[in-house]
Amino acid sequence: MTAQHLMQTYAPHPVAFVRGEGAWLWDTEGKRYLDALAGIAVNGLGYAHPVLTRAICDQVAKLMHISNHFRVPEQERAAAKICELSGMENVFFANSGSEANEAAIKLARLYGHQRGVESPAIIVMEKAWHGRTLATLSATGSRKAQAGFEPLMGGFLRVPYNDIAAIERLADNPSVVAVLLEVLQGEGGINVAHPEWLRQVRAICDRKQWLMMVDEVQSGIGRTGKWFAHQWAGVVPDVMPLAKGLASGVPIGACVARGVAAKVFKPGNHGSTFGGSPLATVAALTTLDVIEKEGLLAHAHRMGEVIQGGLRQELSGVAGVKEIRGMGLMIGVELDRPCGDIVRRGLAAGLVTNVTAERVVRLLPPLVIQESEAKRLVEMLAPLVKAFLAEAPAAAAA
Ligand SMILES: *Cc1c(COP(=O)(O)O)cnc(C)c1O
Repeated sequence: MTAQHLMQTYAPHPVAFVRGEGAWLWDTEGKRYLDALAGIAVNGLGYAHPVLTRAICDQVAKLMHISNHFRVPEQERAAAKICELSGMENVFFANSGSEANEAAIKLARLYGHQRGVESPAIIVMEKAWHGRTLATLSATGSRKAQAGFEPLMGGFLRVPYNDIAAIERLADNPSVVAVLLEVLQGEGGINVAHPEWLRQVRAICDRKQWLMMVDEVQSGIGRTGKWFAHQWAGVVPDVMPLAKGLASGVPIGACVARGVAAKVFKPGNHGSTFGGSPLATVAALTTLDVIEKEGLLAHAHRMGEVIQGGLRQELSGVAGVKEIRGMGLMIGVELDRPCGDIVRRGLAAGLVTNVTAERVVRLLPPLVIQESEAKRLVEMLAPLVKAFLAEAPAAAAA
């Protein structure tokens, strides 16, 4: 294998997977791994789910793509299902999380212009992640990701996460048209929103006629044990970007809206060649269907408790472990030092994990992970973390 003709945007581990089944992966050498990453919260149904495989193969044999010059019945059905599950009204389909956020940002700007705001601004959060296109990179709160791509786009006002006072201080700024936030900051290190803060943001958005835009690209589609993580707080957003888990690996993005936000875009305002193809939307419909029929919301919630509880038992009080947090199957173990090496150690031991925000071991296993596998995950990870902490002194590693 050689990667010399690939741009050096990634630094992949020297492992290549050739197939998977449920929560398990096999590499080119035939070695088996337990997957606690699910292709970054994409493969909620795990690998080779027979119902999904069948639906995708059937659709490929009929029609993959036709363009949005024509009605796409599968797209209409997927949109109706997403609206039924979210209590929202309509959907624009794109092809990635960045594109879903890009649509949300454009929607907010157009909403502002329609209300006579000349230079609309969107309030965004520190440590936020919304994507790598220029607009979404500008909305993202990672200097590391932004560095070198200046000039960034204007029109974003950044405030600390979980801080309602900081948002209130912008209440009299006439440029503000929307607030964009994640319920759990995935890339930012599994930072969890306080439900009370989400309700306060909802209230100020109602009061100021701002759009509450909740990026559920990573936290949505059952990952936290509800369809969408904001549902735990009992709020409904005006705009909701989705992607990752929505179509189980077939590229898709969706910008979901309701109320005034559902009426902003008119023909010609926005579009996509690939977005909402029969293939992608059949994959989405089938994914949602399987999650429903197999009771995966309650299951994900319970497996989250098994994993979080197990990790607490094994790692709480261990020197170097700062916090174990998350919701459902979106879990972070924060250490006191950079810990990227845990991913390498995990692979050696047959466990696929991830480290984000330098110090947070992030677990995003497939929603279908079984209880015995959830326990196995804890049994594999806890000793890895302990060994790492023992062998990589905080000062040397930092
Ligand atoms: C991954 C992610 C994105 C970007 O999605 P891409 O498909 O990589 O463009 C946006 N927002 C959140 C919250 C994400 O986790």
